[in-house]
Formats: sequence, C-alpha cells, structure tokens
Amino acid sequence: MTDSQPPKLLDFIVDRTHAGIFVVNRNMELVLWNQFMEVHSGRKAQTLLGKNLFDEFPELPRKWLARKVENVFILKNFSFTSWEQRPYLFKFPHNRPVTGGVDCMRQNCTLMPVKTTAGEVEYVCFTLFDVTDTSIYQQQLKALTQELREVGNRDGLTQLFNRRYIEETLSKEFNRARRYAHPLTVILTDIDHFKQVNDTHGHLAGDEVLRIISRRLQNSLRDTDILGRYGGEEFLIVLPNTGTRGGKVLAERLRHAIESEPVAFGDTHLTINVSLGITELREDSREYEQLIGEADKALYQSKERGRNQATVFTAD
Ligand code: GH3
Ligand code: MG
Ligand code: MG
Repeated sequence: MTDSQPPKLLDFIVDRTHAGIFVVNRNMELVLWNQFMEVHSGRKAQTLLGKNLFDEFPELPRKWLARKVENVFILKNFSFTSWEQRPYLFKFPHNRPVTGGVDCMRQNCTLMPVKTTAGEVEYVCFTLFDVTDTSIYQQQLKALTQELREVGNRDGLTQLFNRRYIEETLSKEFNRARRYAHPLTVILTDIDHFKQVNDTHGHLAGDEVLRIISRRLQNSLRDTDILGRYGGEEFLIVLPNTGTRGGKVLAERLRHAIESEPVAFGDTHLTINVSLGITELREDSREYEQLIGEADKALYQSKERGRNQATVFTAD
C-alpha cells in the first residue's frame, strides 16, 4: 500500500457502507455526508458541507437532537437512539412493500465522539442504520402473538370464548365484584333434548344448531356481558354489575330469542329450547366455582319443571 491509499480506502468504505454516516462540528455544521445519506435524502454532500444541519433539515427534532449532540461533546461518550424510542431521525422513504405497515425508514442511530489528540471532542459522527425490516418483523410478530392468544381463547366450533377463558373471566370478575361490593350474576344455559337433534338429524346438523344458537345468544347480550361455551351444549354467561333481577330479565330474553324462531339447516326447521339457571354473588360466596355450582342447581330445577324456562337459585 502506498501512502495515498489508506485515506482513499476509508473514503470508499464510508461512502459505500450500507449505513448513513455524517459528521457535525460544535456549531452543528456538516463536515461529512456519505452516499447513503445522499441517496436517501436526495441532497448532495457538496451542497451541504459547511452548512448548519438544522438550517438544511428544519424538520429534524432540533431541541432533542441539539441536547443529545451537546452531551456527546461534554461527556465525551457514545450515545444511541433506537427506533423503538424514536422511530427515525430523518424521514426517509423505504423500498419495502407498503403492506409492511411501516410508513418510512426506521432508524437506529449512534453518535460517536471524534476526539483530537488532546482528548477534546472536535466532531460528532452519526451512524444511521436502516432497521425497517426488524420493525416490520416485530410488528408482524406482535400481530401474530395477539392472533394466537385470541384463537387460544376461542372454541373452534362456535367461535365463542372457550371454557378456560370464560372461567378465567368469571374468576377475575368474581374477585373484582367482591373487592368493590359490586353485584355479579352468572347464567348457565343448556339446550333442551339436544341429544335428540343429533340422534334424529346427525352430528353435523347438531353442530350447525350449536353454531346458530351460539350466535343468537351472543346477539342477545349487552356489550358488557361475557358469553362462553362451557361444555358440549352448555353456555356460561357472566354479567358484571348485574343482580339476579336483571339476570332473570336477560335469561328470559335469551330463552325467548331461542324459542321464537326455528333453527334452519338445509330443508329442516327445528324449534329449539334452552333451560337456564341464574345465581348471583352473595356475601358468603367464597369462590367463583360456587356460583357455577349454584347456577347448575337452578338449571337442573328448570329441567325438572319441564325445561324451556329460567330459574333463580335459592339456598333452600
Ligand atoms: P337435556 O334436555 O336434559 O339437556 O337433554 P340433552 O339431550 O340436551 O342432554 P344430554 O346431556 O343427554 O345430551 C347432550 C348432547 O350434546 C350429547 C352430546 O352428544 C351432544 N353434544 C355435545 N357436544 C356436541 C358437539 O360439539 N356437537 C354435537 N353435534 N353434539 C354435541
Ligand atoms: Mg348438557
Ligand atoms: Mg341439554
């Protein structure tokens, strides 16, 4: 290597490296602006060198950036910003498909003190890394995790919340209602003579009836009520801030919603009925399972008395 080679080699690397590199002095005047910065900003180095960074790029977060640079001059240490704290320094377009959901290039930045032999900071060198892909992957991963969590809480046949989720919800609502002395009511619903539907029309027809009934129950509820598939043809409904009076009204509404319109699949129209059991949180309610047990007892009474009715649990 001759003496003249190393600086050229360095220039070449600085220019061609796949990262933005630029350098400012204490007055925020640009002394270096590499090709990456030229390409993405559309501004040539020769038009920028010697100019104040903030004058040339007024859209930069001036207050924040000036303080950050000043700290590097004073503390003589590296400084970083990640895209997670501040998505970008320069608003550069990126060449990824818009479907990625990221509007412009995400950037990680490093601020490096460039010192004189005396150890004083003369310049601050910025390196700016394009981390758009990372941010897109992270966004996709987040969405996927959310989707998986959602799927994990749902019953495959009816798309209602599954038993685990509805019990978890009841447990939370139980604790909350006890702590704040709010009312809480639980309704257990069971389809009447469902076995006959399967026996007469087949299991697939039974599945379709379950889906239709589920939808009808869901559509008859208020936004705050939470419905889940508790068992084969049993549904649990959690009614926060509701006593058995409101619970009974709702149960009657559900019962009527099922009874009033035949369930249709293929050429078949079936009148389906449900029986319901209702109970509410009382001072002596120790655990949420107790509420399910009571609702089940009340439901059993509804069945005993001839089905297609709603019964409120009583202790005796
Ligand atoms: P009752 O009025 O006393 O509730 O009578 P029932 O026939 O509804 O009650 P039983 O518990 O005897 O029968 C419930 C039936 O529900 C039996 C079971 O095969 C059926 N079942 C449970 N889960 C599913 C399902 O996912 N799909 C279908 N098609 N049937 C199901
Ligand atoms: Mg049953
Ligand atoms: Mg049944």
